[in-house]
Amino acid sequence: MSDYMKSINGTQINYYFICKTKLWLFSHNIQMEQESDNVSLGKQLHETSYKKEKEFLIDNLINVDFIKNKDPIEIHEVKKTQSMEISHEYQLLYYMYYLKKEKDISNTVGYLNYQNIRKQIEIELTEEKEEELETVLNDIKSIVDSDVPSPKKSRICRKCAYFEFCFA
Ligand code: SF4
Repeated sequence: MSDYMKSINGTQINYYFICKTKLWLFSHNIQMEQESDNVSLGKQLHETSYKKEKEFLIDNLINVDFIKNKDPIEIHEVKKTQSMEISHEYQLLYYMYYLKKEKDISNTVGYLNYQNIRKQIEIELTEEKEEELETVLNDIKSIVDSDVPSPKKSRICRKCAYFEFCFA
Protein backbone atom coordinates (compact mmCIF):
# COMPACT_ATOMS: atom_id res chain seq x y z
CA MET A 1 0.00 0.00 0.00
CA SER A 2 1.18 3.54 -0.67
CA ASP A 3 1.88 5.78 2.34
CA TYR A 4 -1.24 7.74 1.48
CA MET A 5 -3.48 4.66 1.38
CA LYS A 6 -2.03 3.58 4.70
CA SER A 7 -3.05 6.87 6.26
CA ILE A 8 -6.75 6.58 5.41
CA ASN A 9 -9.02 5.59 8.27
CA GLY A 10 -12.43 3.93 8.42
CA THR A 11 -14.24 7.19 9.11
CA GLN A 12 -12.95 8.68 5.84
CA ILE A 13 -14.18 5.64 3.90
CA ASN A 14 -17.53 6.06 5.60
CA TYR A 15 -17.76 9.78 4.83
CA TYR A 16 -16.77 9.20 1.18
CA PHE A 17 -20.10 7.48 0.65
CA ILE A 18 -22.08 9.82 2.89
CA CYS A 19 -20.89 13.26 1.78
CA LYS A 20 -17.76 14.49 -0.01
CA THR A 21 -17.85 17.82 1.87
CA LYS A 22 -17.91 15.98 5.16
CA LEU A 23 -15.02 13.82 3.99
CA TRP A 24 -12.97 16.87 3.08
CA LEU A 25 -13.69 18.74 6.34
CA PHE A 26 -12.92 15.72 8.50
CA SER A 27 -9.76 14.93 6.53
CA HIS A 28 -8.51 18.46 7.07
CA ASN A 29 -9.03 18.14 10.82
CA ILE A 30 -11.99 20.51 10.86
CA GLN A 31 -14.15 18.80 13.42
CA MET A 32 -17.18 20.07 15.29
CA GLU A 33 -17.28 19.60 19.05
CA GLN A 34 -21.00 19.04 19.23
CA GLU A 35 -21.98 15.43 18.64
CA SER A 36 -25.20 14.61 16.84
CA ASP A 37 -27.79 12.39 18.50
CA ASN A 38 -26.86 9.75 15.97
CA VAL A 39 -23.30 9.56 17.25
CA SER A 40 -24.49 9.32 20.84
CA LEU A 41 -26.93 6.57 19.97
CA GLY A 42 -24.16 4.70 18.18
CA LYS A 43 -22.01 4.94 21.27
CA GLN A 44 -24.84 3.75 23.50
CA LEU A 45 -25.35 0.76 21.23
CA HIS A 46 -21.74 -0.22 21.72
CA GLU A 47 -21.94 0.22 25.45
CA THR A 48 -25.13 -1.73 25.95
CA SER A 49 -25.18 -4.38 23.25
CA TYR A 50 -21.56 -5.35 23.01
CA LYS A 51 -20.31 -4.65 26.50
CA LYS A 52 -18.18 -7.76 26.72
CA GLU A 53 -16.33 -7.20 23.46
CA LYS A 54 -13.15 -5.14 23.17
CA GLU A 55 -12.38 -2.79 20.28
CA PHE A 56 -9.17 -3.42 18.37
CA LEU A 57 -6.99 -0.50 17.36
CA ILE A 58 -4.50 -1.45 14.65
CA ASP A 59 -1.56 0.88 13.88
CA ASN A 60 -3.47 3.72 15.57
CA LEU A 61 -5.59 3.83 12.41
CA ILE A 62 -7.95 0.91 12.05
CA ASN A 63 -10.53 0.68 14.80
CA VAL A 64 -12.31 -2.65 14.55
CA ASP A 65 -15.32 -3.19 16.78
CA PHE A 66 -14.33 -6.76 17.55
CA ILE A 67 -12.38 -9.67 16.12
CA LYS A 68 -12.99 -13.37 16.66
CA ASN A 69 -9.99 -15.61 16.27
CA LYS A 70 -11.64 -18.31 14.18
CA ASP A 71 -10.84 -19.87 10.83
CA PRO A 72 -11.33 -17.63 8.91
CA ILE A 73 -10.68 -14.73 11.31
CA GLU A 74 -13.92 -12.79 11.82
CA ILE A 75 -13.80 -8.99 11.57
CA HIS A 76 -16.96 -7.44 13.04
CA GLU A 77 -18.47 -3.99 12.78
CA VAL A 78 -21.53 -2.97 14.79
CA LYS A 79 -23.91 -0.54 13.11
CA LYS A 80 -27.14 1.14 14.07
CA THR A 81 -29.18 1.07 10.85
CA GLN A 82 -28.80 -0.27 7.35
CA SER A 83 -29.47 3.11 5.73
CA MET A 84 -25.78 3.62 4.85
CA GLU A 85 -24.98 0.01 4.14
CA ILE A 86 -22.59 0.70 1.26
CA SER A 87 -20.38 2.90 3.46
CA HIS A 88 -20.40 0.20 6.15
CA GLU A 89 -19.46 -2.43 3.59
CA TYR A 90 -16.48 -0.48 2.23
CA GLN A 91 -15.29 0.44 5.70
CA LEU A 92 -15.16 -3.24 6.57
CA LEU A 93 -13.59 -4.13 3.21
CA TYR A 94 -10.87 -1.58 3.94
CA TYR A 95 -10.14 -3.19 7.30
CA MET A 96 -9.74 -6.59 5.62
CA TYR A 97 -7.68 -5.04 2.82
CA TYR A 98 -5.41 -3.32 5.33
CA LEU A 99 -4.86 -6.57 7.27
CA LYS A 100 -4.06 -8.36 4.03
CA LYS A 101 -1.65 -5.77 2.63
CA GLU A 102 0.02 -4.55 5.81
CA LYS A 103 -0.14 -7.54 8.16
CA ASP A 104 -0.16 -10.41 5.67
CA ILE A 105 -3.46 -11.63 7.13
CA SER A 106 -5.77 -12.64 4.29
CA ASN A 107 -7.74 -15.40 5.96
CA THR A 108 -10.56 -13.09 7.03
CA VAL A 109 -14.28 -12.68 6.66
CA GLY A 110 -16.22 -9.54 7.59
CA TYR A 111 -19.53 -9.20 9.37
CA LEU A 112 -21.78 -6.15 9.61
CA ASN A 113 -23.93 -6.46 12.73
CA TYR A 114 -27.13 -4.43 12.69
CA GLN A 115 -27.93 -4.88 16.32
CA ASN A 116 -31.26 -3.07 16.53
CA ILE A 117 -32.78 -5.24 13.77
CA ARG A 118 -30.79 -8.35 14.75
CA LYS A 119 -29.32 -8.83 11.31
CA GLN A 120 -25.82 -9.90 10.31
CA ILE A 121 -24.38 -9.52 6.80
CA GLU A 122 -21.28 -11.38 5.66
CA ILE A 123 -18.72 -9.43 3.61
CA GLU A 124 -16.02 -10.99 1.48
CA LEU A 125 -12.92 -9.25 0.12
CA THR A 126 -12.94 -10.56 -3.46
CA GLU A 127 -10.48 -9.43 -6.15
CA GLU A 128 -13.25 -7.36 -7.70
CA LYS A 129 -14.01 -5.67 -4.37
CA GLU A 130 -10.30 -4.99 -3.88
CA GLU A 131 -10.18 -3.16 -7.22
CA GLU A 132 -13.29 -1.17 -6.36
CA LEU A 133 -11.82 -0.29 -2.99
CA GLU A 134 -8.57 0.91 -4.57
CA THR A 135 -10.62 3.19 -6.83
CA VAL A 136 -12.35 4.59 -3.74
CA LEU A 137 -9.01 5.14 -1.96
CA ASN A 138 -7.57 7.00 -4.97
CA ASP A 139 -10.73 9.06 -5.25
CA ILE A 140 -10.51 10.01 -1.57
CA LYS A 141 -6.97 11.28 -2.18
CA SER A 142 -8.03 13.44 -5.10
CA ILE A 143 -10.98 14.90 -3.14
CA VAL A 144 -8.86 15.67 -0.08
CA ASP A 145 -6.12 17.23 -2.25
CA SER A 146 -8.61 19.51 -4.01
CA ASP A 147 -10.65 22.50 -2.79
CA VAL A 148 -13.50 21.82 -0.41
CA PRO A 149 -16.44 20.35 -2.36
CA SER A 150 -19.59 22.50 -2.32
CA PRO A 151 -22.15 21.23 0.20
CA LYS A 152 -25.20 19.57 -1.28
CA LYS A 153 -28.23 19.56 0.96
CA SER A 154 -29.70 16.13 1.60
CA ARG A 155 -31.86 14.37 4.17
CA ILE A 156 -28.81 13.54 6.27
CA CYS A 157 -27.69 17.17 6.68
CA ARG A 158 -30.00 17.97 9.58
CA LYS A 159 -28.28 15.32 11.70
CA CYS A 160 -24.77 16.31 10.60
CA ALA A 161 -22.42 18.14 12.97
CA TYR A 162 -21.27 20.35 10.04
CA PHE A 163 -24.77 21.63 9.27
CA GLU A 164 -24.16 25.18 10.51
CA PHE A 165 -20.78 25.31 8.80
CA CYS A 166 -22.40 24.35 5.48
CA PHE A 167 -25.71 26.18 5.57
CA ALA A 168 -25.86 28.85 8.31
S1 SF4 B 1 -24.27 19.33 6.46
FE1 SF4 B 1 -24.75 18.06 4.68
S2 SF4 B 1 -23.44 18.92 3.04
FE2 SF4 B 1 -22.62 19.64 5.00
S3 SF4 B 1 -21.05 18.16 5.55
FE3 SF4 B 1 -22.93 17.52 6.57
S4 SF4 B 1 -23.88 16.07 5.17
FE4 SF4 B 1 -22.34 17.19 4.00
